[in-house]
Amino acid sequence: MAYDFDLFVIGGGSAGVRCARIAAGHGARVGIAEARFWGGTCVNVGCVPKKLLVMAAEYGATAQDARGFGWEFPPPSHDWPTLLANKDREIARLNSIYRRLLDGAGATVFEAAARFVDPHTLDVGGLRVSAERIVIAVGGRPVVPDFPGGELCVISDEAFFLPERPRRVTMIGGGYIAVEFAGIFAGLGSEVDIVLRQDLPLRGFDEDLREAMAEALESEGIRLHRRCHVRAVTAEGDARRVRLDDGTEIASDLVFAAIGRIPNTDGLGLAQAGVAVNGFGAVTVDAAQRTSVPQIYAIGDVTDRLNLTPVATAEGHALADALFGPGPRQWAMDRVATAVFSSPPLATVGLTEHEAAARGPADIYLTRFTPMRHALTGRARRTLMKLVVDQQTQAVLGAHMLGDDAPEIIQGLSIAINCGATKADFDRTVGIHPTAAEEFVTLRARTRVAEGPMPAAPAETVMTPAEIGAAEAGVGG
Ligand code: NDP
Repeated sequence: MAYDFDLFVIGGGSAGVRCARIAAGHGARVGIAEARFWGGTCVNVGCVPKKLLVMAAEYGATAQDARGFGWEFPPPSHDWPTLLANKDREIARLNSIYRRLLDGAGATVFEAAARFVDPHTLDVGGLRVSAERIVIAVGGRPVVPDFPGGELCVISDEAFFLPERPRRVTMIGGGYIAVEFAGIFAGLGSEVDIVLRQDLPLRGFDEDLREAMAEALESEGIRLHRRCHVRAVTAEGDARRVRLDDGTEIASDLVFAAIGRIPNTDGLGLAQAGVAVNGFGAVTVDAAQRTSVPQIYAIGDVTDRLNLTPVATAEGHALADALFGPGPRQWAMDRVATAVFSSPPLATVGLTEHEAAARGPADIYLTRFTPMRHALTGRARRTLMKLVVDQQTQAVLGAHMLGDDAPEIIQGLSIAINCGATKADFDRTVGIHPTAAEEFVTLRARTRVAEGPMPAAPAETVMTPAEIGAAEAGVGG
């Protein structure tokens, strides 16, 4: 049977655009549909605008720090509308680049929502199109909280378009987005509270990093409400009041819920095509990105595995190469470096101490120091660096850092770790002096040995408002 397209991609985010562009470059007849904005979450309401806001906050800190180096100028002030207008201009530029890349590659572009009619047919904005193969690349969206007053909270999609910077911000959640936006708002001058249901932020990261992050947040003046759940959010005019299960009440101008993201599979008609999803709504795929229907594939956050932009683009590229090119590309998906653009940032690659110790004895090398830059600024910003080394083979299994430039440094180290570098390889590397990064090659003394199962970070403690009420009633009220 003749189809309209060899490949049709649903979703024009990082994964979908890369897949469509590379497949078209290999000569396939490609269609791609996007209903919202080209570039998806990362370019429009994620990584890119977020990093611009992080940079804005950092410039303020840098201006203050300059005094330690002899600079004198009036106290800086910040104009939020200017920042947002400049950010919007840059994002519009990137949008058009994404669109041009698709046109340039020869893909047929549809600015409309696509929905399955059957395993080979889609309804694209009212138009029927057929394709031999279909790729689902629709990404995810922020979870909207279900506690009373959840509708009074903003989610990350909205946070990029606030008309003015709130004076008091309450972040709910202790993950990437909560920690990053806490740093943005605090750096621009807002008072920030974070409500997290664990003792430490960033569950899943190395425990030393989590502790250092909590310390860093508090030293930036951010208040942490640990092991707390939100009971309700209420409105008092334009202001908000956040009630916690420990009785604390937080007065706020903005409540920002950053409690995770869910796959965007509603309304796609997956059942009509017979595509299976898991209990979380994520499309299940095999190692070749194939869904339960052989000619339908899924890539990126809609599969809810490693929800990171570079992983999504790698999956899109690999799939296009596998289907129409020279064969699949290999990416080292077992050791993907990741960063949290907090203030200061954190970055990590490979195994945590807990993960390594569960496999066998691990040598731990850890250092904390005040970086040279802050010797003169007086800012209480300490850097942490840590190597996790397999005791038997001496392979470096993990590298972790919190401190200025951590993402740039760990990106470089991740190549060495993916190449299987040993501690001896690190030791024979001559450092660049004076840098913070040279500490990674001068970690001589082992800090400790980690071995055996270690106390795991507490499992997810999801409590519905009803459960919280019941728990409180049980305690005596
Ligand atoms: P995360 O999954 O990182 O963190 C969610 C946080 O919300 C956790 O602290 C979690 O607590 C908490 N939480 C979940 N449900 C509730 C609830 N009902 N009440 C209170 N707290 C709750 O999600 P984010 O929203 O921060 O980010 C989504 C994803 O986007 C990330 O996982 C990452 O994949 C991606 N991302 C990547 C970035 C980067 O690469 N720099 C930046 C931003 C996002 P607990 O730990 O107890 O489960």
